[in-house]
Amino acid sequence: MVVVMEERATEEQIQHVIAQLTEMGFDVHRSTGALRTVIGAVGGNREADPRLVEVLDGVHEVLRITEPYKLASRTFKPDGTVVAVDDVRIGGDEVIVMAGPCSAESETQVNTTAAAVKRAGAKILRGGAFKPRSSPYSFQGLGEAGLQMLRGAADAHQLKLVSEVMDVSQIEQVEQYADILQVGARNMQNFTLLRELGRSRKPVLLKRGISATIEEWLLSAEYVLAGGNQDVILCERGIRTFESYTRNTLDISAIPVVKKLSHLPIIVDPSHGTGRRDKVAPMARAAVAAGADGLLIEVHCDPDHALSDGAQSMFPSQFDRLMAELRIIAPAIGRSICLEPVARRGWGH
Ligand code: PEP
Ligand code: MN
Repeated sequence: MVVVMEERATEEQIQHVIAQLTEMGFDVHRSTGALRTVIGAVGGNREADPRLVEVLDGVHEVLRITEPYKLASRTFKPDGTVVAVDDVRIGGDEVIVMAGPCSAESETQVNTTAAAVKRAGAKILRGGAFKPRSSPYSFQGLGEAGLQMLRGAADAHQLKLVSEVMDVSQIEQVEQYADILQVGARNMQNFTLLRELGRSRKPVLLKRGISATIEEWLLSAEYVLAGGNQDVILCERGIRTFESYTRNTLDISAIPVVKKLSHLPIIVDPSHGTGRRDKVAPMARAAVAAGADGLLIEVHCDPDHALSDGAQSMFPSQFDRLMAELRIIAPAIGRSICLEPVARRGWGH
């Protein structure tokens, strides 16, 4: 259940409600909104009588969360969550663009690409060092050496870094280098990994599973939230359908659906969503128009020679053009986006 406190509820009243819920066997999660405190009570005794809580001083109302996910639901937290990595805020007014290569391949490739995406207005560098490849014979990533290259390039260009963690055993290492830990589509239901990430202090970017329903996806987010990590960013990256022209079918409708069901920010990955670089820009524009909080886009300085996902990686010039288009679309729906290419800042000085 969710206990919505009155606007003027005192700390003492809140603590009393928490004590009562704990005594009733619930796990208690507190969320302090702009106006009111909301207390989420999960687990516990199914027969617990909500009236025992309703009558307590300072309680405005008690709601049953009917969705199977509780902490991820908007009922629990009516205000949207903003995941902050220092001054980069995902889920706020600004549309945040994360861009970079599929995989870290070399010092030069990572640096050249990082410089290009920064110049175009990206705030976060993406890049994998541990790669979940469909074939065991494909390039598997550079591991820690790749993480070092990515961190170096992110710092050199004042970017934050998102990188994938495939297994519990890699968490500690990826945490040392990355600002956001990515859980790949193939791992969306790796519950051991999700539980462990619940104990991390770093935000988690949770991709939608290849054939996951939105409810299953939100239940996976629930694992991380229930573990105590409130910073989850959802990422729609396309699902498998009968259509085979594109690599996946990008579910743009997931954006408004998730916005209604959950308070968590949602970003879109049109690169894996389409698998073709000529389709990335139109879908990125559509995602922003539909209300996405950000984008995750593969850009490579030399995509024709990329070791993974070259066909869906944009040339820097295409990415530049896309960013210029997004600067028109975002304000039209009341959002902001990095205002002008970094290279142009300072002109006139
Ligand atoms: C990736 O971001 O490079 C990746 C492997 O994505 P996904 O898990 O969505 O396939
Ligand atoms: Mn990729």
